[in-house]
Amino acid sequence: MKLVKLIANLGYGSRKQVMGLFREGRITDADGEVLYSDDQVAHERIRIDGEPLDPPQGLLLALNKPTGYTCSTRDAGRLVYDLLPPRFRLRQPVLSSVGRLDRDTSGLLLFTDDGKLLHRIISRKSAIEKVYEVLLAEDLRGDEGDLFAAGTLLLDGETTPLAPAALEVLGPCHARLSLSEGRYHQVRRMFAATGNAVTGLKRVAIGRLRLDELQLAAGDWRALDASEAQRIF
Ligand code: URA
Repeated sequence: MKLVKLIANLGYGSRKQVMGLFREGRITDADGEVLYSDDQVAHERIRIDGEPLDPPQGLLLALNKPTGYTCSTRDAGRLVYDLLPPRFRLRQPVLSSVGRLDRDTSGLLLFTDDGKLLHRIISRKSAIEKVYEVLLAEDLRGDEGDLFAAGTLLLDGETTPLAPAALEVLGPCHARLSLSEGRYHQVRRMFAATGNAVTGLKRVAIGRLRLDELQLAAGDWRALDASEAQRIF
């Protein structure tokens, strides 16, 4: 792919704006040599204002989502995309969140521009385990673990029972819940079905990819490498 198109597709600007960056000498190789738009150079050797070019297509990012941000590209209010560099919203192919977290849910949220990878992660067939830490308004009754594990719980308005889920009690109103599905507001609705209410919800793992091991402060993100991506499956 021609350099101008490659750089424009990564969201650094329109092709015209990228041509301007070339003319201003802001696009160089790793040794600081100014590049021209028809040069042939490997992606990893390109620098813009001295910074390495963003990764090519196939990007997978992890964000430690704070509460108060919506997983949407155009809602009113704060969006998860506001936590990423603005050019990430202009990348082609588009960078999408892998599933969603509610505005009031925090924790591990992935983004990718690889449609196949996205579908593989969210597909029912993959049944990837998602782990949540949950704070509740009321003390647990004691039977929630059995109820969730039975695989018979029917959520309000649905006709297919939930797949079995594992509950680990961490305190009187504190638990860890592992799910292999991703239905709308699933965790909140599961506890609502037991007469309780979720007051705090954080996703702490997707598959074997654990948020605490990624060492991301709330609001921070980074690209995952291939071995981290493997931990999802
Ligand atoms: N379940 C919910 O209820 N909300 C989320 O954000 C994720 C899972």
